[in-house]
Amino acid sequence: MRLLGGAKTFKNYIGGEWVDADSGETFESTSPANGDMIGVFPKSGPADVERAVAVAKEAYEDWRLVPAPKRGEILFRFAQLLTEHKDNLTDLMTREMGKVRAEAGGDVQEAIDMSFYMAGEGRRMYGQTTPSELRDKFNMSVRMPIGVVGVITPWNFPIAIPSWKIAPALVAGNTIVFKPATDTPLLGERFVELLAEAGVPPGVVNIVHGGGGAVGDALVRSPDVPVITLTGSRETGVAVLKNAADGLKHVHLELGGKNAIIVLDDAKLDLAVDGIIWSAFGTSGQRCTAASRVIVQRGVYEQLKKRLVDAVERLQLGVGWEDETDIGPVINERALEKIHSYTEIGTGEGADLLTGGEVAGGDGLDKGFYYRPTVFGDVKPDMRIAQEEIFGPTTALIPVESFDEAIRVANGVQYGLSSSIFTQDVNTAFRAIRDLDTGITYINAGTTGAEVHLPFGGTKDTGNGHREAGQAALDVFTEWKSVYVDYSGKLQRAQIDNLDE
Ligand code: NAD
Repeated sequence: MRLLGGAKTFKNYIGGEWVDADSGETFESTSPANGDMIGVFPKSGPADVERAVAVAKEAYEDWRLVPAPKRGEILFRFAQLLTEHKDNLTDLMTREMGKVRAEAGGDVQEAIDMSFYMAGEGRRMYGQTTPSELRDKFNMSVRMPIGVVGVITPWNFPIAIPSWKIAPALVAGNTIVFKPATDTPLLGERFVELLAEAGVPPGVVNIVHGGGGAVGDALVRSPDVPVITLTGSRETGVAVLKNAADGLKHVHLELGGKNAIIVLDDAKLDLAVDGIIWSAFGTSGQRCTAASRVIVQRGVYEQLKKRLVDAVERLQLGVGWEDETDIGPVINERALEKIHSYTEIGTGEGADLLTGGEVAGGDGLDKGFYYRPTVFGDVKPDMRIAQEEIFGPTTALIPVESFDEAIRVANGVQYGLSSSIFTQDVNTAFRAIRDLDTGITYINAGTTGAEVHLPFGGTKDTGNGHREAGQAALDVFTEWKSVYVDYSGKLQRAQIDNLDE
């Protein structure tokens, strides 16, 4: 494996070979923490996608016939390799993506967990058997692979998200053309390098670097790519869904969030503050599950506000690889500007800026993209800062009178990914589980912390009804086939010949 600081120019991986982009053009990946150069990558286009898709299509014909337990064993080796390289990948992630070491390690660990889990699916991949309504007839359903899967990922979980898609797609017998985000190409590259080292045959996994408009869109429109799995913004999801419509593709979308933590009067407030800090400011708020709203019952509003602001002001900004850093940079200048524009929107709307609200400088921070963790108070549920995904270290405190109002406010946004409630009352907790319209609900924990063996995804505009992780992931990457075996030796007509039995 190439080490950071060694070879700095990277290539696409197509058909088991490392190749430049057809155009010969390149782009750079730089660290959001301090501007350091991470590497130079091929700026690919439709011709490169076409080549990768052709290779993946050919490789599919053999890979689909490799017994699923054997495919699982390759994933098992991949998980072991990820484990061996965990420190190295963690360090690289603090540099290329910017998140702090503990969280970067968690990102890699998620991929390890997912790969071990999906390795096991190679020996399960359960279908169903049912009785037949006719004598001497056997019924079953089995999962079938689909073909070439186009994998398009964001930068915020640069090792975990590719694993959520690629591990289940592979174990099910599909082949892959992977386009990672242009902000984290080296992590994508190393992911594929380790897959190859684990024994994935040439052509089965291919990586094509480049932008969404050129590479991503070419994948979405390719007639030989029947499945597209995208994690990204709502806007990108809508474009991908439209562009894939003519091909009637399977499109799996994991999109934005506007997640809320509810804190009721009977909550343990210190626990709630810990949960809010972790969920709102971890990964600098750049998680799809980030808690960008905190809905607080009046009785504890002032207390919670004070404790939260005190805790936020103790958070240390800095480079992710230093142990004392609590919050790293945001991904790039555009993100910094967008986050700050929401501070201006919030103050303009009349929300009370309690802390933060500015680009951070000094102590070397000017070399990267750092934003002070920001808390708004007295936010009204219909303000833009309480409705739109900011994707940065900004959260909005919304006071409410009752549990019912809290649920109404929590549900009153276009997204439905994650939610959480802090309460000591078990009945209230179960009502919240029933009434919060999100794909994930936490009780007495923040909005983030999913485990790989349960379905992951959201309701409403967070997606289009699919789920990642757990067995649900296999639904995205397989087609059900129902099989009827008639061993009666005569014509038996379903719904007609069995009526007198
Ligand atoms: P993005 O939508 O800008 O980009 C995502 C990927 O799509 C990138 O690889 C990009 O190059 C590609 N892309 C862009 N336009 C495309 C097009 N027209 N056709 C094909 N591909 C295209 O998102 P981002 O800024 O990288 O990530 C942040 C977003 O991702 C946030 O909205 C966040 O909530 C969401 N996200 C969701 C989840 C989830 O599981 N629900 C997880 C992480 C991030």
